[in-house]
Formats: sequence, structure tokens, C-alpha cells
Amino acid sequence: MGEPGARGRFGDYGGRYAPESLVQACREVEEAFREAWRDPGFRGTLAGLLAEHAGRPTPLTPARRLSEALGVRLYLKREDLTHTGSHKINNVLGQALLATRMGRRRLIAETGAGQHGVATATAAALLGLDATVFMGERDIERQSLNVFRMRMLGAEVVPVTSGSRTLKDATSEAMRHWVGMTADSHYCIGSVIGPDPYPWMVKEFQRVIGDEARGQFAAELRTGVPDLVVACVGGGSNAAGTFAGFADTTARLVGVEAAGGAGAARGRVGVLHGCRSLFLQDGDGQIVEARSIAAGLDYPGVGPEHAHLRDLGRARYVTVTDEEAVGAAVRLARTEGIVPALESAHALAWVIRAAGGGELPAGSTVLMTLSGRGDKDVATFKELL
Ligand SMILES: *Cc1c(COP(=O)(O)O)cnc(C)c1O
Repeated sequence: MGEPGARGRFGDYGGRYAPESLVQACREVEEAFREAWRDPGFRGTLAGLLAEHAGRPTPLTPARRLSEALGVRLYLKREDLTHTGSHKINNVLGQALLATRMGRRRLIAETGAGQHGVATATAAALLGLDATVFMGERDIERQSLNVFRMRMLGAEVVPVTSGSRTLKDATSEAMRHWVGMTADSHYCIGSVIGPDPYPWMVKEFQRVIGDEARGQFAAELRTGVPDLVVACVGGGSNAAGTFAGFADTTARLVGVEAAGGAGAARGRVGVLHGCRSLFLQDGDGQIVEARSIAAGLDYPGVGPEHAHLRDLGRARYVTVTDEEAVGAAVRLARTEGIVPALESAHALAWVIRAAGGGELPAGSTVLMTLSGRGDKDVATFKELL
């Protein structure tokens, strides 16, 4: 899992489907990122921020009681223990630092439930940048606490009233807004989606998950690599970062999507938000809205590299229902004392199903990325349990 090929492609996917002014802005981001990523100074500064501010490295936790019940050896990569509570901070600190290096004074971001917006507002405050976050009006109503957190951190939250008034529309609006502002603003995308170089760049910023886990796993088990590497997939950034650490090994890679947001498992080829990939569409090729109890999995498509990994057969994509995810969250809470984010609970639900259904031979070693903590989902759990 390396760089995209010619014209920013992973196989047939990816690219830069955008108006000329944005294509130019994307070229500048690509050039700046290529240069920064080769610069040990930039890497060192970012590693320092990740350690001092975000709490890296995150632990690798053996899920002992659950492993025993399932008959496998399950290890959790604890992104839930990062500052702001999910892997999103890894990417945002990288992009905020890049923006500073490019002389940009402002970050523009889209957000659905508010997790990426909060992370962006956090990184902006840390580095003394302004932040403007686009959020669908419906999401603003549903996520008032995160809206307040962003404002408390000094960010401006702009309600988006078009379309379904959710994440898809917020992303379109943020891109439109960036067109006129590219000289002083950086568009900070929250997942491995959007025009090239974003899918590649965001994966590189999330690669720290997989690289750390690989080293920790090797130290824990002499065998070196797990049999299986599992992560949940919304746009696919925590999965891409996790997979990147194991792509050159024999580990089987599994991405777990929400049944109502299964871009990789059930999508068709299309173009959205500047990128050719797999998206949920109706008979006329219109993008269908995703539906999941986990707001972070509510994206109607998947990043282009996942589409390519699926075609190659290198990674497999499976789906889990809302009910299975909630059940898995309760099980993790009661066996390991960890309340996971509903997104992460999808990955666990598949592990539980696969272990029970004989898909995972007894004694298999499984590495699962726990992408976030469940504090943000407590109201949902309370309603259901
Ligand atoms: C946003 C989010 C996700 C989904 O995003 P990816 O880009 O697919 O990783 C998963 N888990 C949590 C906790 C999130 O906040």
C-alpha cells in the first residue's frame, strides 16, 4: 500500500475530478506534502505533537477474557485513548502542520457527527490557526454537544442547509467554499476520500496506527504478525492506516462496514467529492444516503484505495448490522471494561461472528483497531439498552 500511480490513481480509482481552481490547489497540497513527508524535520515535529499532545504511542491491549470466550487471541490497538477520543487526531495534526508549512492561516473542514470537526478545531487551536467547519443542519441539531465543543475551541461552525443537510452536503459545501479561499486556507479532509492527494496523504498520516501496532505485536508475540487484521470502514482512514502497517505481510485484511453504508461491499463505481470510487447508488446513478447507527460510518462510499484492495482481493469487506454492533459494544464493556465507539464496535461484531461461525480457526491471532471511545455514543446506548 504505497503511493498512487499516474494521475493519482489506485488501479482504476482515485483521481482529481474537480474544477480547475481546485485541481491547482490540490497540486499545491500534493507538492507540499511530498516535500514535507521526505523532510525528517517535518516528521520529527509531527511525531512530537503526536506524543506530547495526542498521547501516542497508544497501547496494544490483549482482550484476555473476550479472547478466552471466543477461542482466539484478540489484541486491540487503542486509538480510543488518544486525545479527543479517536484516530482522527493523527490525520488532523498532520494536515494542520502541513497548512502551517504552506503559510495557510485557516483550516476548512467538513464534519458529520462532529468528531472530525472537533479534532480540526483542536489542532487549529494548538497551532494558532482559524478553523471553519461545515456541518449539515440536521447533524447540528443531533450533535449539539460537539457543536458547542468546536465553538469553545474557537472554531466557526457553518450550518449547511442544502440536500439532505448531512455529511455528504457538508463535504460538497466545504469544497465549494475552498475554491475562493485556496490562497490562505487549507481544506482538511477527514478520511481517505476526496481528490488526489487526499486519499494517499490521509493514509500516510494514519499509517502510524499500523506501524506502531506492527512493532507492538512483534514484541508481544514471537510469531511477528497476526493472522488477521480488522478495522471498521467509514471512508476508510483508520482501516487504511492499520492495513498499511501489514500490507506486505501474510496477515489477512478485513474491513468492516455498516450494513447501511457498505460502499466497498455493495457500492458501484461512480464519482463523488472529486474522486472515482465505489458509492451506494440508485438505478439512475444518484448517490443514496448511507444509514448507520454509527455516525462515522454514515458515508455513502469508500476511499479509492479500498476499492482497489477489494478488486485485488488483498482486503475483504464485510458488513455488520446496527444490532450486532450494539451487542458487541456491550460485550466489550462487560468483558474488558472498555466502552467502544459504535463505529469500532462494528469491527468487533464481525470478529465475534467469525469466531462463532468457524471462519476464524481456534487460536487465530487477531489485531483489531479500536478506532474510538464510546463516550459520544452514551445517549444512543442509553436509549437502546
Ligand atoms: C470517523 C470515525 C470512523 C470512521 O472513519 P474512517 O475514516 O473510516 O476511519 C471510525 N471510528 C471512529 C471512532 C470515528 O470517529
